[in-house]
Amino acid sequence: MKIWLNGKLVDKQDAKLSVFDHGILYGDGVFEGIRVYDRKIFQAQAHIDRLFDSARELRLPIPQTKQELIDAMYETVRANEITDGYIRLVVTRGEGNLGLNPFKCSQPGVFIIADQVALYPEEMYRKGMAVIVAKTVRTSASMVNPSVKSLNYLNNIVAKIEAVDAGVAEAIMLNAKGNVAECTGDNLFLVKDGQVFTSPIEAGILGGITRRVVIELAKRMGIVAQEEDITTKDLYAADECFLTGTAAEVISVTKIDGQVVGDGKAGPMTQKLLEAFREFIRSGEEL
Ligand code: PMP
Repeated sequence: MKIWLNGKLVDKQDAKLSVFDHGILYGDGVFEGIRVYDRKIFQAQAHIDRLFDSARELRLPIPQTKQELIDAMYETVRANEITDGYIRLVVTRGEGNLGLNPFKCSQPGVFIIADQVALYPEEMYRKGMAVIVAKTVRTSASMVNPSVKSLNYLNNIVAKIEAVDAGVAEAIMLNAKGNVAECTGDNLFLVKDGQVFTSPIEAGILGGITRRVVIELAKRMGIVAQEEDITTKDLYAADECFLTGTAAEVISVTKIDGQVVGDGKAGPMTQKLLEAFREFIRSGEEL
């Protein structure tokens, strides 16, 4: 496997970072997870824009231009002969000392991994998945803003441990107000009376690229898609619930905290949007 590291493709065993890199010492850095479909990078521009937005919030200067990083991702995909797969693009703060001050670090480090994608089992797409509502509260925008896709995922990991302990694949995280924010690695949607709802960015979520595409596709299909606060009551009363994310795409949720959602099957609206999403992938359109 070839890894793109600070401008060069190197063998996996030579792709090394300093133990003084603040990405490792403090989770100080940003990243993107991106799909490759039929050798094409899905929504490359949107992912690169989000990476730069995340980095700007952390005052982390990325040494490459956006286009250079897109070219580097394609170079890595080709070098690893990936047709359908997953890219991890990471920017770390760089090597520093043991103090927190990020501005004492040298150049930020950038690396790109292009690999196979780890997917939920196909059965889950047909039958839907079970999730729980986590006790762990999503960090608020005034803490570490969830719209920054940073290397510090501990808030999500602690909630993911709750999911694993409960024997389910995902956990819904609430915000400090008690409303639904998002899942540990996916955004959440509800369907009620033929309309689609998802939490607004202000609820303290990552602005998912898949979420954005699904909202746009719903609108194109004449389905009302609202970004509105979602309560736990709304969750249990929903006709359908589904998650969106780069790896998951669009996946139905049929059980929340052991309670059946709707009629307990992957719902028709979810299926329709998943089909539309897959068609959108084939179209190669960039939003
Ligand atoms: N929320 C969180 C916390 C995530 O980590 C992800 C996956 N990156 C998402 C939502 C979904 O975002 P996207 O559709 O861009 O993968």
